[in-house]
Amino acid sequence: MKRLSVQIIRTKKELRTQITEWHMKGLKVGMVPTMGALHHGHLSLIREIQKHVDKVVVSIFVNPMQFGPHEDFDKYPRSETADIKKLDQVGTDLLYAPEVGEIYPDGFLTTVSVTKITEGLCAAKRPGHFDGVTTVVTKLLLQCLPDVALFGEKDFQQYTVLKQMAKDLDMPTEVMCGRLIRDDDGLATSSRNVYLTPEERQIALEIPKTLKQIISEIEDGTQTIEESLEKGTQHLLDSGVKEVQYLEIRQSDNLEPLTRTFGETSPLLARILVAAVVGKTRLIDNMPIKIFF
Ligand code: AMP
Repeated sequence: MKRLSVQIIRTKKELRTQITEWHMKGLKVGMVPTMGALHHGHLSLIREIQKHVDKVVVSIFVNPMQFGPHEDFDKYPRSETADIKKLDQVGTDLLYAPEVGEIYPDGFLTTVSVTKITEGLCAAKRPGHFDGVTTVVTKLLLQCLPDVALFGEKDFQQYTVLKQMAKDLDMPTEVMCGRLIRDDDGLATSSRNVYLTPEERQIALEIPKTLKQIISEIEDGTQTIEESLEKGTQHLLDSGVKEVQYLEIRQSDNLEPLTRTFGETSPLLARILVAAVVGKTRLIDNMPIKIFF
């Protein structure tokens, strides 16, 4: 059997030792935090960060703190052996895969929380979710102290929150965004797509199609924003989507609601974002959109 070149580490102590050794040699370290069940989206982030750093650390940690009591923590897909193979093939230097007790030892009492950006969109139906994300990412970044950390555009609100957090807390890590990867049929690649039956997947495909339709209506000026979003929501429900949790357009840089600035000559770069439930699976997607006032 071929020897793996990816180094596997499970404790923060060993992680620190290795990262310090790399930093002492003047090497630049990048980190891609994940929850495993690795797919093309994750692998694309690894290939992207390889362009910016000398050594790549990927973490796999299914973080209990970011799941609500009725969410899928227990049945979240876990496939470490297959993940390690993929990490090795793509040339990852180090996998950090800690146990829950390594991240949240007995007596753990701290929460890291970002305000405002964490108040709407995904937060509305997932109270406490972003506190779980910001707390674990703070811990992972402090344990690893990477020069760069890369997060996917797929979770656009998460990326925006983490960028703000790193800036506000003067973290010595540059937070970057990697492009959203889709399956060949257009569905945003996600570890949770394995939950979808073939019929549900057909319904889920209406999500990216609807976003594209809304973007063309609004950018071409054939519909108002309000009309187009309402029509899009109704179309998703008519197609068999069980619930549209949100379908909104926000400003790209801070996710604030759109504000009409009269006299603007150039379009506002915005994001259309959606969360929808298909069968029992909650799916999210987003795309850039230009708003002409
Ligand atoms: P997860 O394992 O789902 O927590 O995701 C780990 C990282 O991979 C996060 O930064 C996600 O935004 C990113 N990611 C997940 N799916 C995709 C995708 N389809 N395209 C790009 N990045 C993704």
